[in-house]
Formats: sequence, structure tokens, C-alpha cells
Amino acid sequence: MKERNCLYCQEKILGRTDKKFCDDHCRSSYNNQLNGFTNSKIRTVDHALKKNRRILMGFFNSKNEYTVLVIDRKIQEMGFLFQFHTHIDILESGETCFYCYDYGIVPLGNKIKVVKAKV
Ligand SMILES: [Zn+2]
Repeated sequence: MKERNCLYCQEKILGRTDKKFCDDHCRSSYNNQLNGFTNSKIRTVDHALKKNRRILMGFFNSKNEYTVLVIDRKIQEMGFLFQFHTHIDILESGETCFYCYDYGIVPLGNKIKVVKAKV
């Protein structure tokens, strides 16, 4: 018979061989640990996406403007993280836009076109 150890405390499990934990306490501690890790990853990504959106939104001051040009370096100095975006869309112009919710960017060499989604 194969010996099993509790996934949480590593103690030998007695009794049924299909058990993964020695008791309910170990089961819930193990699950809380897993969820805590997942939640902190989600929070990190959420935070980055919202910060990106705030940076992009900051380039617009008129309600009638839908695109502005900014330099690549400027956006990075403000803390924009290029690897975080919510979705990708093709604009009417055929350009690929990386959105953070309702604001997006189109990379153009050393400049970036910042796009506000039309409602
Ligand atoms: Zn245990």
C-alpha cells in the first residue's frame, strides 16, 4: 500500500488512501494558501491595468478628441507597463490597438498613438 502525506503539514495520512489531508484544518489551510497566492496575482494585474488606464486618460482634456500622439519614453517614465492590456482591437485605420479598458495605444516607432474608444 502506497503511503501518503498530507499536502499541507506533510504528516503521514492514516486510514483511507484517497485522502489528501489529515483533517479539515489542513484542507482549509492549504486552500487558503492557494487562494491567497491567486488573489495577490490578480490584484497586481488589476493594479497595473488601472494605472495604465489612468496614464492614458490623462492625455485627454477635450471630450471631442479621440486620439493623441505621445512619445514612447514619456509614457514609460509615467509608469506605463506595456505588457498589461485588456484586449486587442483593429481600428478603422487598420492599426492594431492595445486597450486598457476604454483607452488604448497604437505603437508607431518611437511614438505612440493614444486612443480613446468611441462610445
Ligand atoms: Zn495535515
